[in-house]
Amino acid sequence: MKHTNLFVIITLMAGLLHQNLTGQTHSMPKLEYAYAALEPYIDAQTMEIHYSKHHQAYLNNLNKALAGTKAENLPIEELLVAAERRGATIRNNGGGHYNHSLFWDILSPDAVKTPNGKLAEDIVKTFTSVDSLKKLLNAGATTRFGSGWVWLYVTPDKKLAVCSSPNQDNPIMDANKENRGIPILGIDVWEHAYYLKYQNKRGDYLSAIWNVINWDKVASNYTNALKNPLLKVIEKDAWQELKDFHMVMAQTFHPMEEGKFDPIRTRSGEMYNKAKLLAASKVPASFQSPEITKAINDLVDGSMKLDKLVVKKAKDNKLKESLIKLHDTFHVIQGLCSDDH
Ligand code: MN
Repeated sequence: MKHTNLFVIITLMAGLLHQNLTGQTHSMPKLEYAYAALEPYIDAQTMEIHYSKHHQAYLNNLNKALAGTKAENLPIEELLVAAERRGATIRNNGGGHYNHSLFWDILSPDAVKTPNGKLAEDIVKTFTSVDSLKKLLNAGATTRFGSGWVWLYVTPDKKLAVCSSPNQDNPIMDANKENRGIPILGIDVWEHAYYLKYQNKRGDYLSAIWNVINWDKVASNYTNALKNPLLKVIEKDAWQELKDFHMVMAQTFHPMEEGKFDPIRTRSGEMYNKAKLLAASKVPASFQSPEITKAINDLVDGSMKLDKLVVKKAKDNKLKESLIKLHDTFHVIQGLCSDDH
């Protein structure tokens, strides 16, 4: 082994050790330009406070909240997919860290001011023109009440879309419900992003910021988003009927494993209903296949049989056999929605 390789390995290991000792899982991205570089569109003082105080505070609070937890070493995207379930501290500060990291990265004093290539073509196809896209984004930003962001993002079926979100939410998050995907351009419309220079005139800030948004960076974000496995994770996570079934399964199967049959005896009807709702729901595009259709039908049959056993007051061992079979069927569906498919 070359000495340089050994050196790299030792440095990496020391870095990991340091991370684990200090709980500093996430770190500030380097700002690639000076605070004053975006003048006159964004002033130096706003940039300095925004980056070194606001963003730094989100990061510190995120690392503090994660220290010593099982989620400590998860990549930021994986944290955010389940942001709502992880609670307000992770949601707000994880979102704050992710959103600002993206924001600094698409701003540049040498911004390429118009999109090119595939991004330009797809913008025209989706929004008719770059100008109408900008109008949509500005309208979303202007009408966002209070603090938030406006986004251009890639949907799980690989379309471009626009949305706005409150606070530090973003389209990756489960909290964003109807508008999920991977953001490729985001504009911060918190007052802290513009108040020192523009005061209450959010519209003036929004007109100015296009001078420093680097479309070449947005285009590379687009290319990366289109091939990012996170899209499938989001697509599966956004399948509410699957999540609803999963909930009842988890809350009846695990007690049964411990010998407790009350949950399944009281909830078998609810489980059967959730299976029927799942069967009536639209299977997300990436997961559609004859196999998944069959597995979902099996799930409806299986939960109907289980419910009948409960109604007939069948013995524990009969219920157990039936629930284990149903659980296996559910895992076939889960498997068909995983990364390997
Ligand atoms: Mn901000």
